[in-house]
Amino acid sequence: MVKKIAVMTSGGDSPGMNSAIRAILRRGLDKGMEVFGIHEGFEGLVEGGKMIEPLDWHQGGGILHLGGTFLGTARSERFFKKEGRTNAALNLFKTGINALVVIGGDGSLTGALVLYNEWHELLEQLASEGRLTKEEIKNTPTLQVIGLPGSIDNDLYGTNMSIGTDTALRNIVVATDMLSSTAASHQRTFVVETMGRHCGYLALMTAMASGATWVLIPEKDMGIRWHQKMLQTLEQARHAGQRHQLVIIAEGARHTDCLPIKSSTIKDIISQKLQTDVRLTVPGHIQRGGSPSPFDRLLAIRLGVAAIDEIAVSKTNSIPKMAGLIANKIVFTPLEEVISKGEAIRNELENGNYKKALELRGSSFGNVLTLFKLMASPVVKKGKKIKGRIAILTGGPDAPGMNTAVGIATRLAIKLGYEVVGFKNGFNGILDSDFVPLDWMAVDGWINKPGSELGAARYKLIDPHNFDKIVLNLEKHKISALLCIGGVNAFQKACKLYKAFQKTETPDIPICCIPASIDNNLPLTDFSIGSDTALSNIVEAIDKIRDTAGSTNRAFLIEVMGAGCGFLALMSGLASGAEKAYLPEDGITIKELGDEVQKVIDGFKSGKRLVIQIVNENASTHYNTDFIRRVMEEEGKGQFEIKQSILGHFQRGGIPTPFDRIQACRMAAAGIQQLNLEIEINRAHATSVGLHGHEIAITPLQKIIELLDNGACTQSNWFLSLKDHAETLSKYSAILKTN
Ligand code: ATP
Repeated sequence: MVKKIAVMTSGGDSPGMNSAIRAILRRGLDKGMEVFGIHEGFEGLVEGGKMIEPLDWHQGGGILHLGGTFLGTARSERFFKKEGRTNAALNLFKTGINALVVIGGDGSLTGALVLYNEWHELLEQLASEGRLTKEEIKNTPTLQVIGLPGSIDNDLYGTNMSIGTDTALRNIVVATDMLSSTAASHQRTFVVETMGRHCGYLALMTAMASGATWVLIPEKDMGIRWHQKMLQTLEQARHAGQRHQLVIIAEGARHTDCLPIKSSTIKDIISQKLQTDVRLTVPGHIQRGGSPSPFDRLLAIRLGVAAIDEIAVSKTNSIPKMAGLIANKIVFTPLEEVISKGEAIRNELENGNYKKALELRGSSFGNVLTLFKLMASPVVKKGKKIKGRIAILTGGPDAPGMNTAVGIATRLAIKLGYEVVGFKNGFNGILDSDFVPLDWMAVDGWINKPGSELGAARYKLIDPHNFDKIVLNLEKHKISALLCIGGVNAFQKACKLYKAFQKTETPDIPICCIPASIDNNLPLTDFSIGSDTALSNIVEAIDKIRDTAGSTNRAFLIEVMGAGCGFLALMSGLASGAEKAYLPEDGITIKELGDEVQKVIDGFKSGKRLVIQIVNENASTHYNTDFIRRVMEEEGKGQFEIKQSILGHFQRGGIPTPFDRIQACRMAAAGIQQLNLEIEINRAHATSVGLHGHEIAITPLQKIIELLDNGACTQSNWFLSLKDHAETLSKYSAILKTN
């Protein structure tokens, strides 16, 4: 039976919903399904008629970069009533739709579950009213229902991230960055209120990513004297020399007794008690707006594709589920559980059981809160014995987020009782004894600084014998542990250093490496610091190139970095709707190039005005971007124009995204904690930090080096499974029709 599916967006809109609709539409068509779009959520479903329309391949075009949802969304009072839901069932039945995908928040998913539960009852009702016949409804299977989490608040159970959350966070952090620069000039305190009635995700991550001094979220028990503690911390920060402070409050923040805390109250308390200039900013709906971030587009694509694949294989009596992303993998959770567990968290909050609510949010949420609390105040207990001296360096080419990592590592090390120094220009700094002391204020404002303040020289070669000198210099400067933040090159040097220690009489010191590379080419970590910013830079550039689609037929070849790893090429291609991505993992054949030219010609014939192909800088040794251009020009025979664009260092630049900052904070903190542990137990292992799924993990450095030497890392990379998504969603409609 040909499945007829319908997709709708419901409740509050969230950026990335369009990407989800496009993925559902195109994957559905590719699987031979008929796909309908329901306008204005449940309201359109109740209304029927033109509100439920069949969608074609082209309607998925040109929408990836648009915020909101092209189907429209609404809150529907009519659907709350049985009468409305009876109409909705009739409209679905008459159109022959047998599967429904609802993208929205917990309210929308509850609505979808109610419709599923009542399906047969509603049909019976329609038959009893004479609007359908008994014969018609006989043997009608249950409506298949799949939910996708669409909510900027990130308050849904069953997924680590909801569609729209990352963009909302980005929007808020852009605002706090701007406030920080103006606040610093005037010695001001800014109070910023974020969305999140029942969930502190946006507020907490904003606080972490913007270096705020205090945060108020629904899940944190404030205690009875919380405002005194807040004022004390703000004063401590000022006395330490910080020129401005940020206080972030979630709209759902509450006192211990559950009464809401208003952001205006915070402002009044601070200005009255500290006699300081305080301003309140409420970004409001700005948080929902704008073009979706690459993360949200990719999340929406992954979930949308998974929804269709699930419908395609599901039995007609399968229970309704929500597709979510847990530990970087697609996981389906029964809708009933999503809703009941979500309700359980809200109940815990309403009853003041904050500890339980926090526990239910998951360990990484709690860990970020613990880290934030530790970092908020600059005060270190007086008379504490110095435990040693930790050195930090950034090595290899710079990556956005390196400064964030150095800043957090420095502050945490100070808190744990260490002196901190930063070596300049990577390992060369150790060789040249070129270092700077790092204290709390030395790294103030590094949370969002682009590049690397310490310098990250790669090309200055270090003679292998010099590692012996590096060992001696580390001893000379009384370094007790080394934190090395960088890419492949830095990891390899750290390993050489570790081996050099083994050869000498000098006592070993623990070394810990943190992955920071825009290429995302290190093994055993899903993401390296900087890769999300680079991806955002590339996608922003491609979006702009798309804007130039005029009347002429143009094909763009866009070369991106990535070294031997196709992460940037594939993910930017997928997030920007490119027609092709050439990856180093696959290489390029001459036959493939010939086929591609034909596809481009057919694409233009079928009405395309612009074709975008992404080329990884190392996709092939000989068939480089310029060669591909010349093949296209020769074989295209003037039927289209070809433009070549090498994005180069543009990809490395700019302030780090919130995602990169948060991962930098988490990984740098884990690195320092690991070094502290090694020192405390008098051990000197070389380790590395990685992000596995959603958890931070520590691996022996030697294992990473072995994987690098075997070239095994890139082939097993998680993102390569998304090649199939890219191929399906970017199919030229002309080719699809002939399939
Ligand atoms: P947001 O997170 O932005 O608030 P949401 O999906 O939770 O999004 P709601 O306004 O709560 O938004 O719900 C959207 C729509 O879902 C409602 O207007 C209503 O039509 C339907 N809905 C919500 N709860 C129910 C319910 N218990 N029974 C039937 N329909 C419901």
